[in-house]
Amino acid sequence: MAKSDVAHSGRCLCGAITFETSGNPRFVAHCHCQSCRRNTGSAVATFVGVLKDQFHYTKGTPRNFASSPGVTRSFCGDCGTPLTYQADFYPDEVHIYVSTFDHPEDFTPQLHVFVSEAIPWLHIDDNLPRYATTSRDATPIDRA
Ligand SMILES: [Zn+2]
Ligand SMILES: [Zn+2]
Repeated sequence: MAKSDVAHSGRCLCGAITFETSGNPRFVAHCHCQSCRRNTGSAVATFVGVLKDQFHYTKGTPRNFASSPGVTRSFCGDCGTPLTYQADFYPDEVHIYVSTFDHPEDFTPQLHVFVSEAIPWLHIDDNLPRYATTSRDATPIDRA
């Protein structure tokens, strides 16, 4: 099987929602922004970004929440597990929380975004590029 045909499955905590992605992700990123941290209750949120046509739900229908203008976050209405992030300014993409995948170890993080909002006590010892906000219109910043 060609690598681009690889499928990755995932689900919410209760299993009411399941999904599948195909092919290689566009990116895998640690997001330190306050919204993602609050949405997950975690110190950092790690996303797998895929094109919309690489993603589909295989069971159930999530609920949606507009966390800010043009931004939709989906979650399981039964167990509350946050699942995806979609934004009008990334119209072709779905960003999926890596730990909702059955095998998050299959994905390798490539960068950190919104380190300007990171919790000071969180230290991740890698040499990945770090961006103050997004990576789309910026150059990496030096590690503090
Ligand atoms: Zn659920
Ligand atoms: Zn974020």
